[in-house]
Amino acid sequence: MIYDLIVVGSGSVGSAAGYYAAKAGLKVLMIDNGHPPHDQGSHHGETRLMRHAYGQGEIYVPMVLRAQQLWDELEEQVGERIMHRCGVINIGPNDSEYIRNANESASRYQIPVEMLTAEAVMKRWPQIKVPHGFVGVFEPNAGYLKSEVAIGHFIRLAKEAGCTQLFNCPTTGVTRDGDVQKVETANGVYFGRKLVFSAGTWLTKLLPKLPVQPVRKVFGWYQADDSYNENNKFPGFVFVIKDNESEFYGFPANNNALKVGKHSGGQPINSPEERTPFGAFPEDNGELLDFLHSVFPGTRECIYGKSCTYDMSPDKHFIIHTQPDQLIISGLSGHAFKFASVLGEIAAAFAQNKSSPFDLSPFSLSRFAKPC
Ligand SMILES: Cc1cc2nc3c(=O)[nH]c(=O)nc-3n(C[C@H](O)[C@H](O)[C@H](O)COP(=O)(O)OP(=O)(O)OC[C@H]3O[C@@H](n4cnc5c(N)ncnc54)[C@H](O)[C@@H]3O)c2cc1C
Repeated sequence: MIYDLIVVGSGSVGSAAGYYAAKAGLKVLMIDNGHPPHDQGSHHGETRLMRHAYGQGEIYVPMVLRAQQLWDELEEQVGERIMHRCGVINIGPNDSEYIRNANESASRYQIPVEMLTAEAVMKRWPQIKVPHGFVGVFEPNAGYLKSEVAIGHFIRLAKEAGCTQLFNCPTTGVTRDGDVQKVETANGVYFGRKLVFSAGTWLTKLLPKLPVQPVRKVFGWYQADDSYNENNKFPGFVFVIKDNESEFYGFPANNNALKVGKHSGGQPINSPEERTPFGAFPEDNGELLDFLHSVFPGTRECIYGKSCTYDMSPDKHFIIHTQPDQLIISGLSGHAFKFASVLGEIAAAFAQNKSSPFDLSPFSLSRFAKPC
């Protein structure tokens, strides 16, 4: 049997790819090391921010707007809440690249935002301390996605649409056999006309020349007083203290537990075993606690934390690269969960030889010197 599409890695992007391709009537095989959702990839820890006024650059905005439509459709289809529209406040120095990008994305694509001075932010949310010279960009229609819930639905819907699923089964190699893709797994060999590589951080094991560096990251839940709870209208947040060097993000508290992570920094690693648990480094808790106590005075100690991995590309922008019969989606650099739905749709279109409505050329591997 030859599948129309084989999906190597069925986490955030792969689960959506499998679903949209199977829904389009293709014969699809989804493969994964584990049984997604799970905590061995980049999608665990319950929640991921969803922003449209995009701090990483306006080239992402058309895709993120389509992603939002697809999340809304998924939510309606499954009858369960996937997106919490609590709003997101972006805070940073007035001249930071992140704030500039968020503002430019908003004005170019008419995304509703409120530009706030430090004083206006603190008047609205007295529980936030904003450093002098910083500003806020509040996006009321942003919020967060329930990442594991969404993946669970994509996996189930893909199966219902007729997709074959091979889980707890690593892919060990991909070669070409004539004009088909030959995929070797712990369970045997499978063939497909098209293939999408969506194996997250450890795709580097299958494509060693891919310019992607796995980086260990941590996040934790901290005690917070009632004013930080979502039901008291506390928003999600991105705090850029210094572009690329000191960037934090987090979520409104649920039952007085506020989740926070550091987007910048982390430890480059070369094997999954090096992803040691939260607390393995003193700075795991230390950096988050210092940040929280400096800007959210009503927060207290760590309740618990987890570790995770980012797949960093050299320029921190996505890799969405097409080569004959293969699509590589990688280097997602810690900000792609929100795009998982649209990246899945892009993969399904690729498998049907349809061209993408998005300009994907900025994301091609050709921007780097080395082929993979
Ligand atoms: C702590 C943290 C916080 C984040 N916060 C945000 C946020 O707020 N907003 C946002 O948009 N994004 C966020 N991200 C980024 C986002 O979660 C990731 O970019 C996204 O989940 C990556 O999707 P993926 O499909 O590439 O990887 P994954 O979801 O990890 O899926 C990859 C899958 O491939 C499988 N796999 C690996 N190797 C093989 C193999 N050899 N054979 C078969 N299967 C294999 C894995 O088991 C895994 O299931 C965050 C990431 C982390 C770690």
